[in-house]
Amino acid sequence: MQTGLAVAALCRRPSEVLAAAREVFENRKSNEIQLDAATIRKFSAHIAGHVIAPEASDYESARSIFNRAYDLRPALIVRCANSSDVARTLDFAQGQKVPLAVRSGGHSRIGHGMCDGGVVVDLSGMNRVVVDAGKRVARAEAGALVRDLDAAAQKFGLATTSGGCPTVGIAGLTLGGGEGKLMGKFGAACDNLLSAQLVTVDGTQVEASHNSSPDLFWAIRGGGGNFGVVTELEYQLHPVTDVLAGTLLYPAGRLPDLLQAFARFVAAEPDEMDVLAQLVPHDTGPRCRMDICYCGDPRLGNDLLRPLRALNPQEDSVKVTPYLTAQSAGGFLQTPVAHFQTNLFLPDLSEAVITTISAAMSEAPPRCKIIVVPLRGAISRVPLRDTAFVLRQPGYEVDIAGVWDDPAERTRVVEWVKTQRDKLQPFARGVYANQLGETSEPLVRAAFGPNYTRLVEIKKKYDPRNVLRLNQNIKPE
Ligand SMILES: Cc1cc2nc3c(=O)[nH]c(=O)nc-3n(C[C@H](O)[C@H](O)[C@H](O)COP(=O)(O)OP(=O)(O)OC[C@H]3O[C@@H](n4cnc5c(N)ncnc54)[C@H](O)[C@@H]3O)c2cc1C
Repeated sequence: MQTGLAVAALCRRPSEVLAAAREVFENRKSNEIQLDAATIRKFSAHIAGHVIAPEASDYESARSIFNRAYDLRPALIVRCANSSDVARTLDFAQGQKVPLAVRSGGHSRIGHGMCDGGVVVDLSGMNRVVVDAGKRVARAEAGALVRDLDAAAQKFGLATTSGGCPTVGIAGLTLGGGEGKLMGKFGAACDNLLSAQLVTVDGTQVEASHNSSPDLFWAIRGGGGNFGVVTELEYQLHPVTDVLAGTLLYPAGRLPDLLQAFARFVAAEPDEMDVLAQLVPHDTGPRCRMDICYCGDPRLGNDLLRPLRALNPQEDSVKVTPYLTAQSAGGFLQTPVAHFQTNLFLPDLSEAVITTISAAMSEAPPRCKIIVVPLRGAISRVPLRDTAFVLRQPGYEVDIAGVWDDPAERTRVVEWVKTQRDKLQPFARGVYANQLGETSEPLVRAAFGPNYTRLVEIKKKYDPRNVLRLNQNIKPE
């Protein structure tokens, strides 16, 4: 039954899935909900953290999120100091019957960390990371960013899989799965989660781990922010110091050959090798850039890279470098900007896929990209039912994205992204929830695949009234 449902979602005709897809920023109406000053004062008296109302001088900075396509004005932002603040804020928002958003790093592609007219549980002030080097474990408050976790662990020559952008929040990243440079060797970020502390919508503080609320622990490893507000995450760390990392940038105009070589390279690569292909428009034609991170013996890494270097990159910055430096090099976007991104999971880079991607890039507007992220090694060896995260089959997450500064450019960018998504849809076998700048029920079902039915049961148990709905939402029905 479970499999049937998921297969039904995945096998829908592309047009059905896509017709149902919608962008929240097109539909979310500005909401005029206001909370009166006396109500806010009474609530604030019980909050140890910082309560930010629209009149506050830091309201503008507090409401800003990474994706500038969203200009959302909550009635109240509660920068929590501890889990009691989180519980009180959850209670307050439900009592006021207003929308509720949960913000950690503020990097949701779809602006889910902020809301119009509602209350925001803001974890950004809770960002302490404590490392037990002996046990190789990090305990991180949920507002910590990728760079906070990386920096704390690297003091001891340790690391775990975290995102490719230093300012992404580890909470949103891990709850949705969490892809990063170390995933081939150590699995997704969620595979390295040992336990989490949560506050559920009824204010209960719960530990989720293999031994404590194991159903919840299963669900939060891939099922997103649907089940409670996470206040702390405990991660397994691994020895990682220097890595062989950098970029190979190829001259314009050879995309099909380069992508074929990339696919051959990926098929043969060991777990330690992480390579992704970024395809970008250029005056002289689309170009391919391969971002490398090899976390094994650098001499062997250099040997392994020979086939990619034999393709005559115009620039080659791959060298032995501290892991933190490799992490701070970042990926597609480094600073907040208005953008639209979506993705598809493709099991293969077949000739037809490569032709489609190459054609897409030949008509790409200036600031649009396709990023091909191989999912191989440890991340794809975890059995599908072990966690809620479903991208366990070897393959490629293909992100299609575009940015704009002038709102007038938006339509062209969004149209290009959607058109390419439609063209690749026939080859797809799912989507990655964390990299979706759009949502719809079919997309959510496709994102959680065969695990969707179990996620619904767990949602019914922990959030039966769907208080936590600003997410890739699993409806409790
Ligand atoms: C520039 C950029 C680079 C990225 N790079 C990567 C990458 O390398 N790998 C990858 O896998 N993903 C990547 N992502 C996607 C990223 O993982 C998701 O957008 C993720 O949700 C961001 O988490 P956040 O805490 O920063 O976001 P927020 O906007 O703060 O939160 C997003 C959502 O996560 C949930 N959430 C967040 N915190 C909590 C919490 N404490 N408790 C309960 N629910 C919570 C909520 O549903 C919230 O709406 C990237 C995104 C961007 C914008």
